[in-house]
Amino acid sequence: MPCEPDGKQNNPKEPVQSEPIHLQSDHPKEECGIFGVYGVELASGLIHRGLFSMQHRGQEGCGIVVSDGDRVRSHKGPGLVSEVLTEPTLLRLTGDRGIGHVRYSTTGSTRIQNVQPLVVECVDGIWAVAHNGNLINADKLRRMYQDAGAIFQTSTDSEVLVHILADPMFRRRPQRVARALEELRGAFSFLIMTKDCVMAARDPHGFRPLSIGRLGDGYIFASETCAMAQTGAEYIRDVEPGELVTVDETGLHSSIFADPVTNKAHCVFEMVYFARPDSVVFGKNVHQVRMQYGSWLAKEHPVDADIVIAVPDSGNSAALGYSRESGIPLDFGFIRNHYIGRTFIMPQADKRAAGVDLKLAVVPEVVRGKRVIVVDDSIVRGTTVRHRVAWLRSAGAIEVHVRISCPPVAHPCFYGIDFPTSEELIAGGQSVEEIRKFIGADTLGYLGEEGLLSPFGNPNDYCKACFSGEYPLEVGGMGDKNRLESLNPELPFRQ
Ligand code: AMP
Repeated sequence: MPCEPDGKQNNPKEPVQSEPIHLQSDHPKEECGIFGVYGVELASGLIHRGLFSMQHRGQEGCGIVVSDGDRVRSHKGPGLVSEVLTEPTLLRLTGDRGIGHVRYSTTGSTRIQNVQPLVVECVDGIWAVAHNGNLINADKLRRMYQDAGAIFQTSTDSEVLVHILADPMFRRRPQRVARALEELRGAFSFLIMTKDCVMAARDPHGFRPLSIGRLGDGYIFASETCAMAQTGAEYIRDVEPGELVTVDETGLHSSIFADPVTNKAHCVFEMVYFARPDSVVFGKNVHQVRMQYGSWLAKEHPVDADIVIAVPDSGNSAALGYSRESGIPLDFGFIRNHYIGRTFIMPQADKRAAGVDLKLAVVPEVVRGKRVIVVDDSIVRGTTVRHRVAWLRSAGAIEVHVRISCPPVAHPCFYGIDFPTSEELIAGGQSVEEIRKFIGADTLGYLGEEGLLSPFGNPNDYCKACFSGEYPLEVGGMGDKNRLESLNPELPFRQ
């Protein structure tokens, strides 16, 4: 069946032919959102809406693939959902099933080929794949297929899945997708589509979220439940860790593709920063968890002050929690420009530096002459908070007390959150007191690990490697965040 990359000439952002091509896998660290639909008329409009509501999960590129059961059509490109998925494009993408993806990556791979969903034509038809997470054995698998003559089109870790699916040894197997997923190590929430069905799978540790919803007679899959609410779908449940869910004309079918692990490894940073406050992630409402973090912070790091302010939007919920617990009034000391996107999320450092000033403005009348507690979600490199403390002082704040609603981020993430190397992480080499001096705050207090895990019934089911350095899935030899080596021995199917 033909796959039609749709509407290319209409998108001014399409890549030029002269773009440099690097066939080496450079394993971009990707933060992503995925959304899928089965059995709903005009699926592309719904996917557009779902992706739009998850724009915070990735702003560098996006794409949609749909099928009407006969033809598969796709469109993707660099940029925001509103820029790439325009009305004429959506109207051409006809079909009642499809998957979509929003993406951000830093490691030099902003090229169009890496924008998902990946769409390939296999001997038995078209396969499309959208991935959220990071595969830690991708290099090994890639080398193996390249040695055997395979040609990779992208530098994403996700592409290894389509090569496994196309591998004759897997094609001929019953439960081919489940067997292919078994070969993957690391963090993955996948949406997979053929012209006939949509599949959703989550790695056995459940690092990244993925939920299932119902819309009329159809089904919806989304990284975050906020996308369910915004498409009128009703949330049913999460895809379970190690589960493969398939929806086709016979309905929804579930199978388990991996042995259960003793402890799950849900990413706690989804709660701290990444997910939207109106989402329910890993069974918990994100806003309420952040409020609890703020309340713990107030107990762990009290200070006499006149007002609590948030760094919007990421610090809003925790600031409210801090204010309620401490009895210190909350005020709006920073105003955010909502039309700039998340500055950190821009790929190049120069863009980041330029974006910092545009994103937030201080309200001098709120902070002048006040002892201010400023609450933010996290410190990564330490540059943005340093600027903000300086602005508060120049606007007349007489004291600035910084409160951070997570512990110091001291270790890189290998499971799908984009953090720099330990050397670039300010907490990778500096004590809290050194960081306080660097950012110029009067006091600095981070949430402790106990508070971080306090909202959850079973704290052992959460990955907190970026704080503790204890990686739930072995990432041996990965001192460099771009060198992915699994300790997993040789793959069984090639022995
Ligand atoms: P900085 O300390 O200057 O590197 O920036 C830290 C801020 O960036 C935090 O307050 C968050 O709001 C935001 N942030 C933290 N982690 C990430 C991430 N992985 N991707 C994008 N933004 C992030």
